[in-house]
Amino acid sequence: MTTKSNNQFLPKAYMQGKIVSFEDAQVSVATHALHYGTAAFAGMRVYDDPSQLGHVRLFRPDLHIKRLSQSAKLLGQEIVPGTIRQAISKFLAANPGAEPYYMRPLVYASALGIAPRLHDVEFDLLIYGVKMGGYLSDKGVSCCFSSWTRGEDRSLPLRGKISGTYVSSALAKTEAASRGFDEAVFLNSSGKVAEGSAMNIFIVKNDTLITPSITQDILEGITRRSILEIAREQAIKTEEREVDRSELILADEAFLTGTATQIAPINKFEQYDLPASRPVTSRITNHLNEIIHKKSSVHGDWMVSFKAGT
Ligand code: PMP
Repeated sequence: MTTKSNNQFLPKAYMQGKIVSFEDAQVSVATHALHYGTAAFAGMRVYDDPSQLGHVRLFRPDLHIKRLSQSAKLLGQEIVPGTIRQAISKFLAANPGAEPYYMRPLVYASALGIAPRLHDVEFDLLIYGVKMGGYLSDKGVSCCFSSWTRGEDRSLPLRGKISGTYVSSALAKTEAASRGFDEAVFLNSSGKVAEGSAMNIFIVKNDTLITPSITQDILEGITRRSILEIAREQAIKTEEREVDRSELILADEAFLTGTATQIAPINKFEQYDLPASRPVTSRITNHLNEIIHKKSSVHGDWMVSFKAGT
């Protein structure tokens, strides 16, 4: 069993309403969430803020916070956005913001004991951070079609980022790696394209940007939503609809999107190569990067500054 981690964690974590050192942020072996996946999480990249010393910036934090609050609601927990935002501010202020990192808030069933249920179970909010570079190559990734089908919303609330559902992501990602691919694409139970292991998918065909609609058992990604908004402003035609597997293979361009992934172009589905030229992907990637790195005043409100520690 691999026990050693190469991850570099931020020095402070938030747990049980307090800032503690990362090493002291521990849970019991009997923690409910550990056994049953009864937790919901968010993931945000924390960027430095060159225009304000001692500050960091988050991309559309209100959307991430709202999604976490709604994911918790799907687990029967009421945690209002203001509470999550306050905890995030405390966490950011307790950690140095010198280098970009990834922040992981988790609303988890912290109660101890046996019984897979959501009522009469105590929950807590924890937050930790880990240094993170690129998650997937921005030069191009190869994808296989997963032999695992994406779950169905009638079995699990897939509109939430619920921890338990990520067993299926882990199976798909490891299967892809064992077959020599970088990523896996899930089909849903109707055999239509859903998404990657933990990212949304787009294709470009005849200058139209196409992505599976939000009723295709996908997670409603915040990057996905932002890309659709950028594309529409750029007068790129967009379609949110059912997508067939053969459309991916015959796409002019394809890419994966997510907070960790950002935009990762796809160069191959199974044995089928995609064209090397990616004009629409490049255009959208440039626009998103300009917004994130504040090189343009467009969508200035998407990047929100918070006080960082030293
Ligand atoms: N789908 C899944 C299953 C994910 O875990 C993620 C990552 N949060 C995404 C899509 C992309 O979502 P976002 O752009 O909000 O990070």
